[in-house]
Amino acid sequence: MGDYALRHPERAAHEAFELINTRSRPTMDSLLADVSEATGKSIDIREMSMLGTWGAAALWMDLGDRHLILESAPTSSHHRAWVRAHEFGHIVYAHLGWADPPAHARTFAEAGQLLDAARQHSVDFRRPAEQAAEAFARYADLRIREAHGGGHDNDYTAALS
Ligand SMILES: [Zn+2]
Repeated sequence: MGDYALRHPERAAHEAFELINTRSRPTMDSLLADVSEATGKSIDIREMSMLGTWGAAALWMDLGDRHLILESAPTSSHHRAWVRAHEFGHIVYAHLGWADPPAHARTFAEAGQLLDAARQHSVDFRRPAEQAAEAFARYADLRIREAHGGGHDNDYTAALS
């Protein structure tokens, strides 16, 4: 099971989302609450605009008592939602044991080391773990839009309010 999300990204995305989702009409807010509830930790999201210059849209750190997501300045609310859903994918897969976490820090000192690594090596989205997280974001995005009557062409921000 340790690499389930890597071997079957589409199926794992569907199953993981439905495992943690508690709403018939999920939103990004309810998804955040459900990820927090499932993992027993709050999710602290902070903007760190320099991340973008390092080639990372966002970075998740498990600080032990909470999840910390650092995100670069968003290009749009839809993009920001997608990026957050991608990080939620990493969190949920690590929690379920379906994929290893890409970054794991339990102290701010360790977090600093991760940031150094992020600065020196841009994220490779071809890696299976990244593809799996993208599959989760894609499924969550579709599921949330469909729940609010939206198709592919609808304004995603309507589902975020
Ligand atoms: Zn990622």
